[in-house]
Amino acid sequence: MADPRGFLKLGRKKASERPVAERVRHFHEFVEPPPPPALAEQASRCMDCGVPFCHQGCPLGNLVPEWNDLVWKGSLDLARARLLATNNFPEITGRVCPAPCEASCVLALEGEPVAIKDIERAIADTEDFAPVKAARRTGRRVAVVGSGPAGLAGAQELARRGHDVVVYERDAAAGGLLRYGIPDFKLEKGVIDRRVAQMEAEGVRFSCGVDAASPAIRSELRTYDAVLLAVGARRPRDLEVPGRALAGVHFAMDYLTQQNRRVAGEVVEGGVDARGKRVVVIGGGDTGSDCVGTAIRQGAARVTQLEIMPRPPDARREDNPWPEWPLVFRTSSSQEEGCDREFAVKTVEIVGAEGRVTGLSAVRVTLDGGRLVDVAGSAHVIEADLVLLAMGFTGPEASPLYAALGVDLDARGNVAVDGEGRTSAHNVYCAGDASRGQSLVVWAIADGRRAAHAIDRALGAAVRPLAVVGG
Ligand SMILES: Cc1cc2nc3c(=O)[nH]c(=O)nc-3n(C[C@H](O)[C@H](O)[C@H](O)COP(=O)(O)OP(=O)(O)OC[C@H]3O[C@@H](n4cnc5c(N)ncnc54)[C@H](O)[C@@H]3O)c2cc1C
Ligand code: SF4
Repeated sequence: MADPRGFLKLGRKKASERPVAERVRHFHEFVEPPPPPALAEQASRCMDCGVPFCHQGCPLGNLVPEWNDLVWKGSLDLARARLLATNNFPEITGRVCPAPCEASCVLALEGEPVAIKDIERAIADTEDFAPVKAARRTGRRVAVVGSGPAGLAGAQELARRGHDVVVYERDAAAGGLLRYGIPDFKLEKGVIDRRVAQMEAEGVRFSCGVDAASPAIRSELRTYDAVLLAVGARRPRDLEVPGRALAGVHFAMDYLTQQNRRVAGEVVEGGVDARGKRVVVIGGGDTGSDCVGTAIRQGAARVTQLEIMPRPPDARREDNPWPEWPLVFRTSSSQEEGCDREFAVKTVEIVGAEGRVTGLSAVRVTLDGGRLVDVAGSAHVIEADLVLLAMGFTGPEASPLYAALGVDLDARGNVAVDGEGRTSAHNVYCAGDASRGQSLVVWAIADGRRAAHAIDRALGAAVRPLAVVGG
């Protein structure tokens, strides 16, 4: 155990962030990892609880008390080994995970949790990314479709177990939403590149710019011993109101992807730019927040973020006790950079002139018996030159791939899987948002690992041809 009295002597101390006025001038990361002594002090607050609820809070079951103890003792190499035993990409979760482990840390019951995510990132950033090569090759071939965190984690686990893995990715480069959704100021793309390079050295072959739903690849998939689908859930929820077709109204993902491509040095013809514009982001979640930070960096004149639900409480409600995820009011780093936030506002129409958006017609709403009802006399107009729709995602995109592989979808349109990621088709598995619905990076990694381990077990058993219908 780390210092038995550490939590009594020391408070929670988070990594510092560069000042707002400085960081909004660029798209680089702005979190400054704590120096090793501060890290060891923070790790010493871990109580090594008899029942470590952080294990249950982390979808990967990260061995948090073990690495806290090792960090406190200065054994960073051992801490890293324990961390990498459960998490393929701690350098990524250490940057973008909302840290449900911290919400369920026992210290959070009465006070402030251990800064677990910062410690995770600091340990992860000591890795040299040397390839971990399988001791023997199995001769079995596995196709992974999609290279977001679920596909990457699955591919790495399978390659390290000696299987020949090919990752088919429709985009020009690997990473999924890590590369094309999450802005660079939260996750610089070099972080993904060095992991992908390690995976290539471990034998994973990336086939980028290739749509696996095309007839040629659909029939190629027949030749593999197993297929792991990790295609994400990119169907955006639309706003079905009059004026939706006006110029200047865009889905958040289209906007964010363009900026990430610009940061990567690509020329984006005719892209959307918030410079000098009054921007309204519809959707109060993380995707909306990423739009806020991006618009501010592009030089927006004003940014407003609308949320249809009422403002959450400042502290947990009685029906939302520890160790559950606290449903409380939060301010993201992007929101802190300067945006107006409005809660309980519903857009009823997008208004415009000469085919371009000029504003939103909105009403206030209130919760009445669990239903949102309009507040009489609350109609108002919010001026806007650019409207970004960030209201979540409804599931995987429609694709001929599912029918071709004989994979069933569930009632919500996600790929139906059992607890190990098995679909209805023999030796076809699915992981991440495609089966779970839009979720978190940490869940995608956990799902990818679980499905890969199930595939590995299946391939160790009797080999049967992959059942592929149609195509
Ligand atoms: C803007 C935004 C910000 C987010 N920020 C965070 C955050 O800060 N922290 C967090 O934990 N989570 C965040 N999330 C959620 C997180 O990114 C996702 O839960 C996670 O990326 C899901 O991983 P995945 O591998 O299942 O799917 P994805 O990352 O969506 O990857 C799916 C991949 O499959 C590919 N693909 C699809 N169809 C085909 C095909 N036919 N052929 C070949 N390839 C195909 C796609 O091109 C894509 O690369 C965010 C999401 C968004 C949209
Ligand atoms: S992956 Fe996320 S939940 Fe798990 S230990 Fe790291 S920060 Fe916590």
